[in-house]
Amino acid sequence: MRTHPDESPPDSEIDGHSNSDHSNMYPDIDPAEHGPVGGPVNGPMRRIKVRDGIRVVAFTGTLLGHITSERPDSLHWTELSIYRKEDGLFIAHRVGVSCVAHRADCSAIEGKNLPAVADMKSDEFATEDRRPCPVCRPDIASEAAADPASIRGETDRHWVGICKDAFSLISALHTNRHGVRSLSGLASAALSQAAEHDAQIAAALNTELEV
Ligand SMILES: [Zn+2]
Repeated sequence: MRTHPDESPPDSEIDGHSNSDHSNMYPDIDPAEHGPVGGPVNGPMRRIKVRDGIRVVAFTGTLLGHITSERPDSLHWTELSIYRKEDGLFIAHRVGVSCVAHRADCSAIEGKNLPAVADMKSDEFATEDRRPCPVCRPDIASEAAADPASIRGETDRHWVGICKDAFSLISALHTNRHGVRSLSGLASAALSQAAEHDAQIAAALNTELEV
């Protein structure tokens, strides 16, 4: 349907978010000190850039698992990817994806300042691939052509977790709803897939959780 969200966006987009000094971004994690944790890192290494809020996280690593909750008629869904960096760190990237377009005056987006679909980021849905909001039911293509500012797009929500071992990865993928901490079906599926490629994740999943 669209390009994979985890593939590198164009560099022009990255430049605006890049931070020249990454060395102290995660002071509690020092690859030089711990070395490749949990044994060898398997799989083809490639350069990966993922969005996290308004910045971009870049690293060299391998994709261990990728799961999406998208169904044929989905308007919103979640995608979860698990990577392992060449130095052993685990990186999880979760995206709340939306392909919905609204009329600017739709009651469902009142108070939200959504961008015009023509101004969306390159890794989000293009105007022609968006689906109409069931409330305001815009004719997306013709209304956007007549007045680009009249059609607004819901934006994707990105989250990145950087974890020093498989146990903290599993912990980071728990969600907390109404005070209940749990591992979603999506997270469980992504971890199971990743465990097929990574011995440390497999070992962590096979470890009894003492609570
Ligand atoms: Zn709407």
